[in-house]
Amino acid sequence: MSGIHPASNQEFSAHTAGKLPAPEEVADGVWTLPQPNKPGHMPFTLSYLIQDSAGDIHVLDPGWDLPPNTGILAAALDRIRPGLRAPASAILTHLHPDHTGLAGSLREQHGTRTVMHRREQEAQQDYARWTADDSRIRADLDAWAVPHGRYTEVLGYAKGSPRVVVPADRLVADGDLLPVPGRRLRVLHSPGHTPGHMCLVEEDQRLLFSGDHLLPRVTPGIGASGGFPENPLELYLQSLHRLRAYDDCQNLPGHEYRYRGIADRAHAIATRHLTRTAEVEQVLAADPDATVWQTAERLSWGRGWDALTRHYLVSALRQTAMHMDLVASGGHKKAFGSWQPLAARTRTA
Ligand SMILES: [Zn+2]
Repeated sequence: MSGIHPASNQEFSAHTAGKLPAPEEVADGVWTLPQPNKPGHMPFTLSYLIQDSAGDIHVLDPGWDLPPNTGILAAALDRIRPGLRAPASAILTHLHPDHTGLAGSLREQHGTRTVMHRREQEAQQDYARWTADDSRIRADLDAWAVPHGRYTEVLGYAKGSPRVVVPADRLVADGDLLPVPGRRLRVLHSPGHTPGHMCLVEEDQRLLFSGDHLLPRVTPGIGASGGFPENPLELYLQSLHRLRAYDDCQNLPGHEYRYRGIADRAHAIATRHLTRTAEVEQVLAADPDATVWQTAERLSWGRGWDALTRHYLVSALRQTAMHMDLVASGGHKKAFGSWQPLAARTRTA
C-alpha cells in the first residue's frame, strides 16, 4: 500500500466539500479541534486537545485569535471535562498566527503555559527586528539583482507585517519530552517552514503532530518568516528525511486532514523540490554567472514568469535563491540522492 490514506472519512469529506470538519476523538484522550481561519488563508487550522494522567487538557496550536475560536475551544473543553475553563498548556508547533493565535489570551486570562522550541522564540524576535528594519531585505534584493523598475514592488511585498510575539513559559529542544504527565510526547525539531518548527511524537499511541511540516495536499512554504542563517530548503529536506522513521504513525497535521502514509508524502514533497533544484542546476550549467533574477526568469512557472507580481514574485525569487544555494552547497546530493519511497524499499528488501 503506497500513497496517502485519510484516517477519517468525516474529516476528509468535510475538507473536500470546503467545510469545517466536526471535532473527533483520534485516540484515547486525544481530540481534534478544527478552528476557522481568517479569509485568504488555509480555511481552518486543526488544533488538538490532549488529556494528561491528571485529567488536565493541553492544547496543541490553539488556532487564530478570532472571536468564534475562543468559544469553540471553551465548548470543547467543557464537553471533555465539564466545568474546565482553560487548558493547562498551549504547545505551539510554530510561530504563525493561525497556530499560536489564542495562546496569548489564554496565558493572560487563565495562566495557560506556552511551550515552544527554543529556536522559534529566537525566530519570533528576529522576525520583529526584520519587519522594523528593512536593511536585510534590501541586501537580499541587491543580491538577487532585482531590476530598478521592479525594486519598489518587490521591497513592499518582501517586508512582512508585524506580528504579536507570544511569550514562552517553557522552551524545549529536539528529543525533549513535553511536560504532559502520563504521556510520552517527544519533540522532533523540524526546521524549514520556520526555523524552530517542531513536530511532536506521541510515542505510545504512535501519533505524529506535524504542524505545517507535512500537509496531505498543500506543499508547505519554506523559509517564509526570516530568521534563518542557514538555507531553509536544505534544513527542510533534512527534516523530511527524518520523518521516514515515523511511517507507522498516523499523521495529525495542522491543516486539511489526518492521514497515514508519512514516508510516501515526505518523499513526494522532497521529489517536487529536488526536481526544481535540477531545473535550476541546468540554468546555472548554461550560465554560471546568472543572478537570482536572471535564473528565475528562465525557470518554468505555472502561468509564466511575466504573470508573477507582488508576493508571488517575492516568493518566486526567494525559492530560486534557496535552490541556487542548494546547488552551490551540493546539499541536494548529500542525503537525498538515494532516497527511495518506503514502499519501494520494502518491495526490494
Ligand atoms: Zn498553518
